Amino acid sequence: MRIAVIGAGVAGLACASELASAGHDVVVLESSRSVGGRAATRRTEAGAFDDGCPLLARGSWLLELAPLGLELACFAERETPVPSMETLCVALGAGLDVRAGVRVARIVRAARGTTVRIESGDGIDLGAFDRVAVTAPAPRSAELLADGEPDLAERAGRVLYAPCWTALAAWDERLALDFDWHREAAGATPVAWACRESAKPGREPGERWTVQAGPLWSRARLGDDGDIVARDLVAALGLLGHEPLPPPTLLLAHRWRFARCVEPLREPCLVSEDLCIGAAGDWCAPPPAPGDPGALQEGLGVPAALHAGRALARALIA
Ligand SMILES: Cc1cc2nc3c(=O)[nH]c(=O)nc-3n(C[C@H](O)[C@H](O)[C@H](O)COP(=O)(O)OP(=O)(O)OC[C@H]3O[C@@H](n4cnc5c(N)ncnc54)[C@H](O)[C@@H]3O)c2cc1C
Repeated sequence: MRIAVIGAGVAGLACASELASAGHDVVVLESSRSVGGRAATRRTEAGAFDDGCPLLARGSWLLELAPLGLELACFAERETPVPSMETLCVALGAGLDVRAGVRVARIVRAARGTTVRIESGDGIDLGAFDRVAVTAPAPRSAELLADGEPDLAERAGRVLYAPCWTALAAWDERLALDFDWHREAAGATPVAWACRESAKPGREPGERWTVQAGPLWSRARLGDDGDIVARDLVAALGLLGHEPLPPPTLLLAHRWRFARCVEPLREPCLVSEDLCIGAAGDWCAPPPAPGDPGALQEGLGVPAALHAGRALARALIA
């Protein structure tokens, strides 16, 4: 079958590689210039930053990454792919036909059980496919599903996310901060996560910090100007070290509107009755392990995206 996968994040690439391994003709359409989605790495003139997902949680799910031949190293009580987070998606996407810079705007179906057409934002026909897998964050997936599968769109539309403001800052000199990372669960300061990028294993040298705000602070400041938000996050980093920081030589802000899923769908994926259109992502959480009510929360994020992408592949070709 000819199958289109929309999105080259963890879920889309996991889905596409499972479909390609089963012998299908798969094309991955990605709106950004590179793979990774929220598990990407941002390159700047000052060096690279893991500006989305910073680290991978430990757990048995990591064994599923073994066939990828990734190098994983320990940092801040979690694991990081070496030399960058995006290595995970580069490995997941190896050998796949990934078309970057292609934003899908519409999924059009003529009748049940026939092929599905896809259109880009400027109305260009991207072709006809036997199956389409949508793997954007749930609110974006809901928009794409609205025409062809309104019922699936409504279910995806119920999923809730927390936003995350992220500041990326670099300095010419090493800062006097005597820690390489800081994690704050209680939300006592704006900073939920801060990390000296060069302290992560296998990274290039240079004083670069990624500072991520907690969900409440991020939501309260969601409409604010990125430059101001980034300055405030750097100031908050300075307070953690008990002294103001010098002005950074590079300061960027990234507003993740849909950073982490907080209220997922309790299904492994969504698939239309005729199996032509499906959707999945980190918003399709696997059910909690029996007797372990905390397992679902632990599994959200990258592990959920990986499982959901694979579940969607299996469901589409069942
Ligand atoms: C700041 C932050 C911190 C995080 N921390 C952690 C953590 O500590 N641990 C953890 O496990 N997870 C964490 N996560 C979450 C984790 O990154 C995500 O759960 C996971 O990467 C989601 O993968 P996905 O494939 O489901 O979605 P995405 O990564 O969002 O991939 C979807 C892809 O679809 C593309 N796309 C969207 N719309 C279209 C369209 N119309 N046409 C074409 N392409 C489209 C997007 O560009 C994107 O590449 C964090 C995320 C953020 C942002």
